[in-house]
Amino acid sequence: MESADELVKTTPLHRRLAMGIGRAGRLLLDQLYPPVCLSCEAPTGMADTLCAKCFAALRPITAPLCPVLGLPFEVALGPDALSAEAIADPPPFERARAALVYNDLAGTLVSRLKYGDRPELARFCARLMAGAGHELWADRPILVPVPLHPARLQRAALQSVGGTGAAAGKAHRARV
Ligand SMILES: [Zn+2]
Repeated sequence: MESADELVKTTPLHRRLAMGIGRAGRLLLDQLYPPVCLSCEAPTGMADTLCAKCFAALRPITAPLCPVLGLPFEVALGPDALSAEAIADPPPFERARAALVYNDLAGTLVSRLKYGDRPELARFCARLMAGAGHELWADRPILVPVPLHPARLQRAALQSVGGTGAAAGKAHRARV
């Protein structure tokens, strides 16, 4: 692994300058438009995130869960235990994952992302999705953003789908 000094020596000057300018730009923007919670707009220490109160209201889906549908279990039933829903009505796919239990806050975030023209939500949602689906990522994954139904396809919807896909792809170095 490279040390910080070696990394500085191997990074070209123009790249270091661009990184410095980008950092300075972000600091200036943070002064002009201080970062706020994506949900309640309370001040936060960094952009594209939630305040502690809103973050606590999210219910991330973690193990134990159904290996097919990704539904959370209350207790661990073993690695191959399927949910009643997956047994009763097997889906046409092998595995699916969701980042959060769909509650009021998760619904609000999704609605704002899809219909509210809030592309900054894409980075936050992509981080959640990348974490929840880490076991599904192949060595060189290809992400395919799926827009809404063509009849409802609008510019904002395309931006949110594409933005989330791009952000998730960046997080996992995947092609989108
Ligand atoms: Zn908040």
